[in-house]
Amino acid sequence: MPQSIKVKPGEKIRLSDYDPDHHEGLDKAEGLKQSTVHAQALDELAYRLQAEHRRALLVVLQGMDTSGKDGTIRHVMSHVSPQTCKVASFKAPTGAELEHDFLWRIHNVCPPRGSIGIFNRSHYEDVLVVRVHDLVPKHEWKTRYEKINEFEKYLVGEGTAILKFFLHISPDEQRERLQARVDDPHKRWKISPSDVAERKFWDDYMLAYEEALMRCSTADAPWHIVPANHKWYRNLVVARTVHETLKEMNPQFPKSTLDLSKMQID
Ligand code: AMP
Ligand code: MG
Repeated sequence: MPQSIKVKPGEKIRLSDYDPDHHEGLDKAEGLKQSTVHAQALDELAYRLQAEHRRALLVVLQGMDTSGKDGTIRHVMSHVSPQTCKVASFKAPTGAELEHDFLWRIHNVCPPRGSIGIFNRSHYEDVLVVRVHDLVPKHEWKTRYEKINEFEKYLVGEGTAILKFFLHISPDEQRERLQARVDDPHKRWKISPSDVAERKFWDDYMLAYEEALMRCSTADAPWHIVPANHKWYRNLVVARTVHETLKEMNPQFPKSTLDLSKMQID
């Protein structure tokens, strides 16, 4: 089983080669401890990003229903000020969105300078659900990989770092999580008939994901495959990767342009 989760540009991916149960041999208590340390560290770095006000970070979360997109956001961003972080969730496009190109609604909510943006689903739905259900003709979605790469390259060039995570669960794990949504009154609000219907297209989705991961993992905007059967490990991988990326970005407090020697506080 490959240990590396960052997809190299052009690398051939077979998702069945990646174990959704993988957890680096860590035990849960240790994993929880580490992921909390990473999540806590994001607060200071996000504060610096806001103060620097030059660059942004975009975190894209994709995965099958129940793969844990909501839970990841809840954990990884739990220590970050709501002033520095914003979530955009993408449903099936409606109204004005359908009147525009598929990236219009995406670009509109990309994170502004000085902030972290989280995409709960994203423009990748336009080569995933759209492809699986033939929502647009093949010759149209086929052109979208290149358009996505160009769009992301443009964002990176304008100062937005991009991280993309595929939360990888097994069909058995999904069955258990869907059953829990039926059985547990606290989870019931989440179940939708489409969750059960989409499950039947599992293999088609895996093919669509494989192509998206292979064609759209670039040096500037890499895809990460996150083993996500264990929620604590999924949170650890995402928190750690976001932390490492922000550390590398190393946002700086700006130098004051004011003449502070003349500023007297009475
Ligand atoms: P949820 O994430 O559970 O709120 O579900 C959102 C639904 O919207 C999922 O079934 C997605 O596949 C669907 N969706 C998101 N983006 C698109 C899109 N571009 N075209 C069609 N369906 C989409
Ligand atoms: Mg859902």
